[in-house]
Amino acid sequence: MMRKYFTYILLLGFPLLGAQNKENQNSGYQKNWASLEQENENLAFDADLKLSDAEKALDQKMSELRQQVIRDAKEKKIPLNNLSFSEIKPMIESSQLFNIIRTMPKGGLLHTHSGGFTDVKWVIEAARKYKECYVYDQKDHGDYIYGQLAFFEKGKVPGGFVNLDQKLISTPGFEKELQDLLILKRDNLCSYTDYWIEFEKRFQRINLLLPYRPFFKEYYLKGFQDLAKDHVQHVEVRYIFGDLYDFQHGKYPSKTAITDLQDVVKQIRKTNPQFTLKLIYSSFKFLGQDEVEKQLETAFEFKKEYPDLISGFDLVADEATGKRINYFQGNWVRLKELSKKYGVEMPLFLHAGESNSVSNKNVLDIALLNNQRIGHGLNLMYFPKTMELIRHQNKLVEVSPISNQVLGYVSDLRNHPARVLLSNGVQCSISSDDPSVYGYEGLSYDFWVAFVYWELDVKALKKLVFNSINYSSLNAGEKKQAVEYLNKQWAAFIQKAK
Ligand SMILES: [Zn+2]
Repeated sequence: MMRKYFTYILLLGFPLLGAQNKENQNSGYQKNWASLEQENENLAFDADLKLSDAEKALDQKMSELRQQVIRDAKEKKIPLNNLSFSEIKPMIESSQLFNIIRTMPKGGLLHTHSGGFTDVKWVIEAARKYKECYVYDQKDHGDYIYGQLAFFEKGKVPGGFVNLDQKLISTPGFEKELQDLLILKRDNLCSYTDYWIEFEKRFQRINLLLPYRPFFKEYYLKGFQDLAKDHVQHVEVRYIFGDLYDFQHGKYPSKTAITDLQDVVKQIRKTNPQFTLKLIYSSFKFLGQDEVEKQLETAFEFKKEYPDLISGFDLVADEATGKRINYFQGNWVRLKELSKKYGVEMPLFLHAGESNSVSNKNVLDIALLNNQRIGHGLNLMYFPKTMELIRHQNKLVEVSPISNQVLGYVSDLRNHPARVLLSNGVQCSISSDDPSVYGYEGLSYDFWVAFVYWELDVKALKKLVFNSINYSSLNAGEKKQAVEYLNKQWAAFIQKAK
């Protein structure tokens, strides 16, 4: 026993001396630890921001409210981390945190799609007011699917379609059924085996409504109004052009959609004078090079005529089934030539890396192209060299957390890839992608989800919000005004919410 004690003293010194040494060693260790912590923080996307005292007070408050959410969930035995968006939606809405986030100025919504951003309940209500609106109430057959909505002239209604208003009156419960057919849910995180097939059906069900000119105007007005109400000051829509029509005039020239949208913006500006809109001309990844070439020519023509409204070009569709971005390299090479011909630039805003697979290498093209913003970039973290390039090139990733969960790319939202991007200094902004298809309006839900699941602070929220204007396609003059407005709104928000 004695011998053991001596050995202990020989090895470790007398206890008192040891304590002093330990303290020295500890402080050295602690210093290294603290500097390592600082070095990590310095790499983050929001490292350049410093919060004011008022912002720090709000940060403290919001952090406590997040703890409240977690405590409430525990008490009610709600497994917050293993539920889908539609399942936690009521909890989001009843939280105090949501009340604050709803009043937060959001800056710009940089990533949303025509056909996916106006409240589904409103769509049904507005459509039924048109006596020429019909719904397909038969099993999917040929060109039509169950629950598909469309306008037809009397006497020219295809078989299987019934008047929407009459159907809603005669069949109690059909309204709820139709809502469910227009919204994609992922309850239990496992409702479908192929989300994109179900997702695209939602678009098909309203696709025939949107080209009908009277409805078109109402649809966009309502969509922009809801966004403005949610403190979104600027919107960029991935817009798929098609001809508008009505039964009196037949088809309108394709540019009518642009002038109609300009009118809608004018109307919004009566109550929200700062509201701005840009359209990103969008085509499809499943087309061939020749078809995309034609689409690009049209995009250039439109941009030449409406340079303040059309900002750039994108290709959409499921990346797992569409063609690779690299397949279109012939089209990308010709962009310079087309720019010369039309006298305008056509920056790209491509969806890339909306995937969990390393065999999808679309993000590689982004680093080589004039593509300042990337839609989704979920698998960017698997390509470290490209991620580094994108960080250096100061390109922004448009992140849509709820969309990513509903479409099956992420289940537990704590594990969203954007967290890796943010901590590695890749700039991001928050978008809603197709909120109406996921059953919500506005941008507050996405911010709530990001704040709660990614353990963000007010500094990160502020950077995400300001990024959405700084990386927008507003021109220099518009951007200056937009930032000034946002600064004022932000200061007012902090004063009120802290
Ligand atoms: Zn998208």
